[in-house]
Amino acid sequence: MIRFQNVYKRYPERGDALAGIDLEIQTGEMVFLTGHSGAGKSTLLRLIGLLERPTRGHVLINGRNLATLPRHEIPYHRRQVGMIFQDHRLLPDRSVFDNVALPLMVMGVHPKEIGRRVRAALDQVGLLRREHALPLALSGGEQQRVGIARALVGRPAVLLADEPTGNLDPDLSREIFHLFERFKYVGMTLLIATHDFDLVEELGHRTLKLDEGRLVGDTGAW
Ligand code: ADP
Ligand code: ADP
Repeated sequence: MIRFQNVYKRYPERGDALAGIDLEIQTGEMVFLTGHSGAGKSTLLRLIGLLERPTRGHVLINGRNLATLPRHEIPYHRRQVGMIFQDHRLLPDRSVFDNVALPLMVMGVHPKEIGRRVRAALDQVGLLRREHALPLALSGGEQQRVGIARALVGRPAVLLADEPTGNLDPDLSREIFHLFERFKYVGMTLLIATHDFDLVEELGHRTLKLDEGRLVGDTGAW
């Protein structure tokens, strides 16, 4: 599903954010990505989401080399990949419904279909009854679940999460990770950058460790 072949990412005057990454993740795997701040976790996720390009090496998704993807296929690729951020990046002056609908509106989906799919996504994260609320009226955990619904609404095959529980207490974090496990069981591929070592150990999924841009640990598929 996801393959890195000797991938380097170098930022000018910064050295290698990633160096010589070789990696394979199968469809339906749920994988944790650990390592201290600056280790390269976000960079690795951004390469998969096509928000960055490698300096060297290749990133392949479903056998397609992202470097040679024709321009007109880039939007299609981006739709296959849902991204979740620590600060969830919700629009504060738009309702929960509108925030989740946004990717579909950008895609030009029919309004009736938007309503159906937004409610299905909100249902998956247990927020169906909060569709009219503004993000600030929600708790931190609920706000993050809106961010997850927005990532889900495009029906991605891959979900990337960058420190999704960084601002949440342990119980809420556990809830979010259990939600991710449900997605795994319906065949989604998940890659989750996190500092939540206790939960990583408790849940026991495959765990990759980055250190200064190098892959220094991989527990393998569990
Ligand atoms: P992590 O997510 O593990 O904290 P990052 O991937 O954000 O690590 O960063 C890895 C390294 O790359 C860090 O040294 C960071 O400062 C650097 N870096 C990340 N993004 C950029 C950028 N856009 N420009 C320059 N340097 C960057
Ligand atoms: P995270 O908290 O997810 O690790 P970062 O704080 O590393 O994220 O990065 C947040 C944003 O800042 C990213 O878009 C990244 O590209 C950018 N960035 C990170 N480090 C640098 C840097 N040294 N110079 C310029 N931009 C950076």
